Parts: sequence; C-alpha cells; structure tokens
Amino acid sequence: MNLVLLGAPGAGKGTQAQYLVKDQKLAHISTGDLLREAVAEGTDLGKEAKRFMDAGQLVPDEVVIGLVKERLQKSDVEAGFILDGFPRNTAQATTIDSELEELGKSIDAALLVDVPADVIIERLSGRRVCPKCGYTGSVKDGESCPLCGAALIQRDDDKPETIKARLDVYDAQTAPLVEYYRGQEKLRKVDGNRAPEVVYEEVKEVLA
Ligand code: AMP
Repeated sequence: MNLVLLGAPGAGKGTQAQYLVKDQKLAHISTGDLLREAVAEGTDLGKEAKRFMDAGQLVPDEVVIGLVKERLQKSDVEAGFILDGFPRNTAQATTIDSELEELGKSIDAALLVDVPADVIIERLSGRRVCPKCGYTGSVKDGESCPLCGAALIQRDDDKPETIKARLDVYDAQTAPLVEYYRGQEKLRKVDGNRAPEVVYEEVKEVLA
C-alpha cells in the first residue's frame, strides 16, 4: 500500500506513520525529516532549506520533489510507502502522481488526520523532540527523553512566531489537497483529536 498522510502540522501524522511502519512494514518518507537531516549535515541544500523552514514557509518544490524522487529509488519502497508531509501543495501532488506513474506505481489512499485548529496550536507550542533518537513528545515529558534520556528540545519552527506562518501556509496551500484526493476517490479521514493509539485503531479501519 502506498499512502499519503494529510493534516496540519502537529496533527499527529508522524506518530501514525510510526504505527504503520511497525505494523505494516511500510517505508516512511517524511520530507520534514529529510530536510532536517540535510540541515543537520550542513549541506548546501540544507542551508538553503533552513531559511524557509525557520520562516515557516514551504521549501521550493524542486528541492523537495528532488529529495522524494531520490528516496523513491531505494528498494524498501517496493513493499509500500508512506509520504508524510508531502505533497504540501497541488504542484507537488500532480508532479508526484506523474513520477509514480512512470515508475509503475500510484498512491492508493490519502489519509487525513483531522484535528481542530485550537488543538493544533496548543500541541505545536507544547511539542518537544529528542535530537538524539527522534522521539516526539510534549512539555509533559519534562526535561529528558523518556526513551534515551537525552535533553528534549523545541523545534525552531515550533516557536510561537513561526507556528502562525506554518498554519497559514497549511490553510492556503496544503488544505486544498483534501479536495484533490477526494476527487480521485482516495480520501480517508480519521478524527485525530484523541489518544494516538485510539486514532490508530480508526486508521486501520479506514484503510482496511
Ligand atoms: P514538517 O516536519 O513536515 O512539519 O516540515 C517542517 C518544515 O519543512 C515545513 O514547515 C517546511 O518548511 C519544510 N517542508 C517539509 N515538507 C515540505 C514539502 N513537502 N514542501 C515544502 N516544504 C516542506
């Protein structure tokens, strides 16, 4: 199964992707993670991307599409994959549809993790991540990562001034993809405003 995960930043796409990866052995392709890796490595691409990410803006399509195309060359995608945080606008969606067609593949379903805007703002401002093992939690976890003990940090783009820009970008550019995939009869929706494991039960039902 090849999946697209849709939903505002902080909706819990990454968490649901982790369940799916574990359960269904799908390859996880998160453009946010690929970009953060490039930033951490200090590559030219990473340096260019960081300016946009810190401003809460989308990184240019050609950069992100290039990363996804490269990732789709790896053999682990043969058993199915999850696109998490991609596509983020209609141009990315149409481009990846034709790229996949050339590879003899297609998107089977687009899963919308639906969470009200006020909850999203609360979640993003309280989100804390582990720079060492990638754990995503919240201020409720305290200072240290519950998995590996490293000090938890706030993502630069989860700072209040950037959150608003990211949500505006989501409403203007990414939310229209819901209609794009509805038009292709691929849209599936779950209520993401519940505990992650409860959300995952519904994910399994709607994808069955
Ligand atoms: P995320 O972790 O998915 O919230 O992504 C973090 C940031 O990376 C976003 O705010 C964008 O600046 C950038 N980014 C991630 N995915 C994309 C994409 N598909 N297109 C453009 N920019 C992206």
